[in-house]
Amino acid sequence: MKIKEQEALEQHKDLEQPADILCDVCMESIQRNYAVLSAHWGNGSKHQGEQYELHLCEACFFATVATLKREHRVKQMFNEDFNEAALEKFGLK
Ligand SMILES: [Zn+2]
Repeated sequence: MKIKEQEALEQHKDLEQPADILCDVCMESIQRNYAVLSAHWGNGSKHQGEQYELHLCEACFFATVATLKREHRVKQMFNEDFNEAALEKFGLK
């Protein structure tokens, strides 16, 4: 019984003090709302075996999306299937 109470207290403590996650770009605290950009490069890639994980706050995530949208536009603008209007929802599920 005593052990159970102790476990309950420890769980409660975990809930009260979540690990402080910082945005990897601006270093602001992002405990609840953040994005994760991750990669694990496999066989045949130039970065084989390397793993990446970046935590991004909302502002830095959308700055990254804006950069990717720009890059997509530059690479696809002469493709006859390129749809500028569809870029507004780039990556949105
Ligand atoms: Zn940030």
